[in-house]
Amino acid sequence: MTLAYIGLGSNLADPQAQISSALAKLAQLENCQVSQVSSLYFSRPMGPQDQPDYMNAVVAIKTSLSAIALLDQLQHIEQNAGRVRKDNRWGARVLDLDILLFAQQVISTERLTIPHYGLKQREFVLLPLAEIAPDLILPDGDNIQELADQINKNGLKIHSKLS
Ligand code: ATP
Ligand code: CA
Ligand code: CA
Repeated sequence: MTLAYIGLGSNLADPQAQISSALAKLAQLENCQVSQVSSLYFSRPMGPQDQPDYMNAVVAIKTSLSAIALLDQLQHIEQNAGRVRKDNRWGARVLDLDILLFAQQVISTERLTIPHYGLKQREFVLLPLAEIAPDLILPDGDNIQELADQINKNGLKIHSKLS
């Protein structure tokens, strides 16, 4: 089994319900167990500012899927939630599921970059990740807790516990 971390985000159609429902869908995936769940966070949007604030969380899963098979499953969950892919980068979305880490694997293909390329620059990823995995070391040797301590919080707030 591979220990992987997934970032969840939503800013449309009742974000809290979207994140809870995505979590339930992840838990129901064959070959996947959810092993840890961060709190739910409020964050400011990246890119276009004329969109609602986001809710974010990070979960740890144990899976026997390959990284690409996991991506297929995540994209399926996004589509079922009604995600519409538009041309506007970082625009509002019902649900976004990103693979942040896949054990210590480094993957660089057309469909997958792992570790996720934005991981170290995004407070809404680093803080929830540090909450559930403070001792985590990235493949390049960086420590998650140190990165989380150093990043500008950009107004990030804990909203509630997820279960
Ligand atoms: P960002 O990638 O900057 O967070 P985004 O999440 O809005 O932006 P999407 O439109 O959801 O971007 O995804 C675009 C493509 O990114 C996907 O079709 C997928 O193939 C690719 N991708 C590359 N690496 C990853 C990863 N680690 N997790 C999820 N998708 C990835
Ligand atoms: Ca994303
Ligand atoms: Ca994505």
